[in-house]
Amino acid sequence: NGLTEAQKTFLQGFAMGTDVARAVRGLPILSGSAAAPGAVVTLGPKGTAVGPPSPERLQVEAQDRAVSGGKVLCKEEAAKRAKDPLTMYDEIQANARAGLFPKDTNVFLYKYSGLFFVAPAQNAFMCRLRLPGGVIKAWQFRGVAGIARELGGGYADVTTRANLQVREIGPHDAPAVLTTLTELGIVARGSGADNIRNVTCNPTSGIDPQELIETLPLAKEMHHYILNHREMYGLPRKFNIAFDGGGRISSLDDTNDIGFKAVNVREDSAADEVSPGVYFRLTLGGITGHKDFARDTGVLLRPEECVPVAAAIVRVFIRSGDRTDRKKARLKYVLDDWGFDKFLAEVETELGKPLRKVSSDRWELSGGDDRWGHVGVHPQKQHGRFYVGVVLPVGRMTADQMDGLADIAERFGRGTIRLTVWQNLLISDVKEGDLPAVKNAIEALGLGWDASSVRSGLVACTGNAGCKFAASDTKGHAMILARYLESRVNLDQPINIHLTGCHHSCAQHYIGDLGLEATKVEVGDDLVEGYHLCVGGGYGTEQGIGRRLFDAMPFDAIPPAVERLLKAYQAHRLPNESFSSF
Ligand code: SF4
Repeated sequence: NGLTEAQKTFLQGFAMGTDVARAVRGLPILSGSAAAPGAVVTLGPKGTAVGPPSPERLQVEAQDRAVSGGKVLCKEEAAKRAKDPLTMYDEIQANARAGLFPKDTNVFLYKYSGLFFVAPAQNAFMCRLRLPGGVIKAWQFRGVAGIARELGGGYADVTTRANLQVREIGPHDAPAVLTTLTELGIVARGSGADNIRNVTCNPTSGIDPQELIETLPLAKEMHHYILNHREMYGLPRKFNIAFDGGGRISSLDDTNDIGFKAVNVREDSAADEVSPGVYFRLTLGGITGHKDFARDTGVLLRPEECVPVAAAIVRVFIRSGDRTDRKKARLKYVLDDWGFDKFLAEVETELGKPLRKVSSDRWELSGGDDRWGHVGVHPQKQHGRFYVGVVLPVGRMTADQMDGLADIAERFGRGTIRLTVWQNLLISDVKEGDLPAVKNAIEALGLGWDASSVRSGLVACTGNAGCKFAASDTKGHAMILARYLESRVNLDQPINIHLTGCHHSCAQHYIGDLGLEATKVEVGDDLVEGYHLCVGGGYGTEQGIGRRLFDAMPFDAIPPAVERLLKAYQAHRLPNESFSSF
């Protein structure tokens, strides 16, 4: 008597078991039998949950299955189960008011909001954005520059997923960074932790004379699908998706968990199962840090089928991925365990229809990528328009440079900036007559538009200046290496040199012509920064995992060693022989 309906329901649920009661109160479910944290639960007459499973239950049921075999959830899964990481706004606000950084598993959970506490490398947050296809409007770019200047360290980095990161954010400023991004129409949600990372595509989508199809609309469609489906945040581990339309700058689709690669089915190759036109070849399981490229499934998809199929794949992965061992939690390990046939059968069940299997002799790829395509001046498919690839030293630019780039894009282009997986950016839609002014304006910012064979393919992860996992100063070493080689080696083609700070391989050292993986090296009684040196990696038509040539060299020994390798290649290669096949 005197109780409200909600109170009666709560007491009814309490009588039926603590999970239901906690769900009614919006508290985390601890035993996982009823619903996920924060889930809306419809109660039946006796307080039991009814209706179709909520999206969140996918994750909880997968966690239940993981522990039913006597295994223990890894600490990250346990943390996700105890607290919904997508509803931490109040906690982030409260911590910020108190000037506190997150502790323990909260460090992991904050990454769902795009906030990375990166101590001890920096006693600060890094914020990673989500920019589908790496495309950003000049006014947004200027807005991010403002965040970097006022709330961060005054600079931003372009990442190897054609994305932006702002660093050196203090504990009080984290919420302001997130809300300002939202006001700019940019979300950071799910840019870290166990989520689908920034969806990539060819940065020249829509302006590329050789592309088979524009991929930016698909990258955006995938991005919005993720944002609007709660279960897409219930993965066992991070997940990468890329679309490649056959443009001159590759999206590195074969390094992703799901790669969609455009192919053409010609009139004379059509058959009952496939009519002529552009399709996407589905590849799965790429994870180059674990030395695996995405493998061809034999499935061809029409463009409009890609996002629904990707969503079905992710749902199967949510159910089947390992939640007890982080090292085995990526999609590759489900594929290794099940094989493609079983996995694709599950995807077909999830999708409710069969996938189109087509033999590889019925389709053909586009002309392949241009290794200089991301730097310098290139004609667009639009007559009389050009894009200019701006060189950023290992992806870094100051807030003032960002303002200047935004001005150039607005004054001489159509206000669009396109980030690339090569850690640089393009300014598109420039008229031929404006090219000299654009080049001058870029140079006036202290940046370049024309890069040497070394600098154009130079990729470096954050390194120990900003990442606690790093064994070396990758970005600093990359610049030293570039300066050393530029004055000694003159190559007629770009050489990809990737420096990565640890085995996580954010800079994908295994696919570089030369790959450097940081490690500490004993020199006398000291431990110094150094690298393992790999050679012969590649992607696309030159796909290959680099082989380790030298173990644990101190960095001082790297530049002369690389010089000797490149000079040997120059002296002994066959005509048109690439470095990776040398
Ligand atoms: Fe950090 Fe390692 Fe990734 Fe480099 S590769 S950014 S050191 S996690």
